[in-house]
Amino acid sequence: MKQTNPRAIRSIVIVGGGTAGWMTAAALANALKAHCTVTLIESDEIGTVGVGEATIPPIRTFNATLGIDENEFVRATQGSFKLGIEFVDWGRRDHRYFHPFGTYGRDFDMVPLHQYWLDAQRKGEAPPLDDLCMAWAAASRGKFAQPSADPRSVASTFDYAYHFDAGLYARFLRTYAEARGVVRIEGKIADYEQTAETGFIRSVTLEDGRGFAGDLFIDCSGFRGLLIEGALETGYQDWTHWLPCDRALAVPCERASEFTPYTRSTAREAGWQWRIPLQHRTGNGYVYCSKFIDEAAAAEKLLANLDGKALADPKPLRFVTGRRNLFWNKNVVAIGLSGGFMEPLESTSIHLIQAGIAKLLALFPDRDFDPLVTDEYNRLGIAEFERIRDFIILHYKLTTRTDTELWRYCGAMDVPDSVTWKIDHFRRYGRLLAREADLFGPPSWLAVHVGQGNMPEATDPLLAHRGQDSAVFLRKLADALARAGEGMPTHAGYIEANCRAG
Ligand code: FAD
Repeated sequence: MKQTNPRAIRSIVIVGGGTAGWMTAAALANALKAHCTVTLIESDEIGTVGVGEATIPPIRTFNATLGIDENEFVRATQGSFKLGIEFVDWGRRDHRYFHPFGTYGRDFDMVPLHQYWLDAQRKGEAPPLDDLCMAWAAASRGKFAQPSADPRSVASTFDYAYHFDAGLYARFLRTYAEARGVVRIEGKIADYEQTAETGFIRSVTLEDGRGFAGDLFIDCSGFRGLLIEGALETGYQDWTHWLPCDRALAVPCERASEFTPYTRSTAREAGWQWRIPLQHRTGNGYVYCSKFIDEAAAAEKLLANLDGKALADPKPLRFVTGRRNLFWNKNVVAIGLSGGFMEPLESTSIHLIQAGIAKLLALFPDRDFDPLVTDEYNRLGIAEFERIRDFIILHYKLTTRTDTELWRYCGAMDVPDSVTWKIDHFRRYGRLLAREADLFGPPSWLAVHVGQGNMPEATDPLLAHRGQDSAVFLRKLADALARAGEGMPTHAGYIEANCRAG
């Protein structure tokens, strides 16, 4: 088909083939069809980070937009289902809570459901908050099924995401993208050429001398930010003073009998440990602050806390939580780790890749690279990064643990005003206020506030104008949720019936 805009983008070069590179390639191949060439350059020698294994529900929209069949995808990636995250020992020792995907029942008579819970709780008559969400009713029983399409059913009030092998997901998307015309080039980029007047990237050159010119470059080169930082020196904001973990050790182990439809995050002395069940193995990792523990001690702690035999040596990773000053600079868009790093506590990095791609498509440029477009992309991206950052800070800030240096530091640290604002509003009347680009909605914030002991001083004054007996109403809800959870198939049974990997 003929191009109508003479300034249209004709060629895109994606630098890097990790999760970010292949998600971008697949989405562009799907959206641009035949109008523009898409070339992806990656180096097997450099390799990928490849440890992103837990996701959040919007990934289902990403896959659906590409027309990917869920069962085929779960089979191809040794995937499993995720209904939320269980947090162990975060607020205090020997305590746990669940951050669910979905809601706590439904708001009732214009008052959020949790206000009734707070009311009952104050009278000593409330069931545990976790028992009021469908995701935990299923997860705590090791069950999984698709949410009901009937909005009257309690079984419609949860959402889900996936755990998967990130390397297999990239391979899956590579097949998809190549089938739609994306050209993959194997090789190491050694140099780049910029236009003298504008500083725009004109081309990249591989070690073997081959050159690749493009109108638009997507930097998916990982932490190194080959173009966004190496060439354009965009700068980086370091958030380590709020999110102090800066290292991780990742290790797979044999799959245990407990095949949970959720991620587990256990707070440790100098960070936290993840546990992510896949079909063929369980992924584990210790995310820690190098100021408070060294690598050898962290590895020992991690290996002592696996629920199956380790299948490899722990893989060390270093990072600085924060973001690039700009995600889009000149004709380079940074997607994935090249744009910034959000520590993985709420499994948001792959989502940020998806969000970067969605914004790029919504604000797709032509060769004028109008600052109106790039500024808006950066404004949205920054807001998105900062709102997620705030939610993760909440987990650290609200700890009441004082048993180790890390937790004492976190409890005492200053946090951004945007977090204090949320903590204060919840503490006063239990209100969950939202800002633009809040990926995590009121139920997520509720889970962490209550789970970590930020209990409100009073309920919403509007509640006094309702005649509801909160405790009776909540008990009925908890019973209905428990029954619905009981009636679901087991997580393992669901996978066996629908999407077991070969
Ligand atoms: P990379 O995987 O580093 O890929 C970079 C690519 O660039 C590679 O293909 C490499 O070959 C190529 N490249 C680099 N330099 C050159 C060059 N000179 N020439 C040619 N090619 C080059 N995310 C989640 O959503 N959920 C999680 O649970 C999660 N857990 C994580 C845990 C840890 C400890 C860490 C560190 C990250 C985690 N993430 C998680 C993040 C997730 O791993 C990344 O977002 C994801 O892997 C994307 O990485 P990437 O593609 O940006 O970079």
